Amino acid sequence: MTGIALVTGGTRGIGAAIARSLKAAGWNVASIYHGNDAAAELFRDGTGIPVYKWDVAEEQACREGLARVEKELGPVSVLVNNAGITRDTMFHRMSFAQWREVLGTNLDSMFTMTRAVIEGMRERRFGRIINISSINGQKGQIGQVNYSAAKAGVIGFTKALAQENASRGITVNAVCPGYIDTEMVAAVPQDVREKIIGGIPVGRLGDPAEIAEAVCWLASDKAGFNTGSVLTINGGQYIAN
Ligand code: NDP
Repeated sequence: MTGIALVTGGTRGIGAAIARSLKAAGWNVASIYHGNDAAAELFRDGTGIPVYKWDVAEEQACREGLARVEKELGPVSVLVNNAGITRDTMFHRMSFAQWREVLGTNLDSMFTMTRAVIEGMRERRFGRIINISSINGQKGQIGQVNYSAAKAGVIGFTKALAQENASRGITVNAVCPGYIDTEMVAAVPQDVREKIIGGIPVGRLGDPAEIAEAVCWLASDKAGFNTGSVLTINGGQYIAN
């Protein structure tokens, strides 16, 4: 476990749980966030995990941010592309700005962040890239044409990149969470939430720690034969593959 494990969106929700689990597993972890300074400071003070602020949708910000992280902490061995947003509305009402914003944060970030680390990983012949997609990238979701398109794109990105880098000791995998109890889901109206839970066979939302455990395994040395896979963790809501 040498090098840094870098988690985008790693100060709240699923990303914060991933960062905590990776630290508990022995990794030196750093988290990236975008705008919520209060949440980031709370997370940093509570965990001792350093936090960095930049927009993962911006190519130059990622290149410069990555250079700063590597100078201050060391080379990145594990990249968890977790940062994501929603801007839900029916497609016939969707603005191009709502489309672009969601595609930028959820899909452009796959390029910007991964491109910044991949050459170093190839030189060092080790890397773990774990991309957080979504159940709604697998099955599509009303009101989320932008988000579903971006998250489906994450899966294609993962499968292609895995093939390009397998011979260099780099694994690339995607995780597709179902509905997880975070602020993103808390923003969904109560009646819709109850309907969602009614459609989950295990009868509850997932816990961020349940996603974090899977990511930790994918980051481990033991998972070296596992690449290009899509790990579905959704309480049985959608049986995909
Ligand atoms: P949250 O909204 O709780 O947290 C999002 C995190 O991403 C925050 O740390 C936020 O930073 C960061 N972030 C957002 N935009 C950017 C950006 N442009 N640049 C850098 N950081 C950014 O999200 P969740 O924990 O719920 O979701 C995490 C991931 O899991 C997302 O990709 C989401 O799509 C996916 N997912 C979530 C599900 C769920 O049920 N919650 C289900 C399936 C997938 P800041 O605090 O500064 O805003």
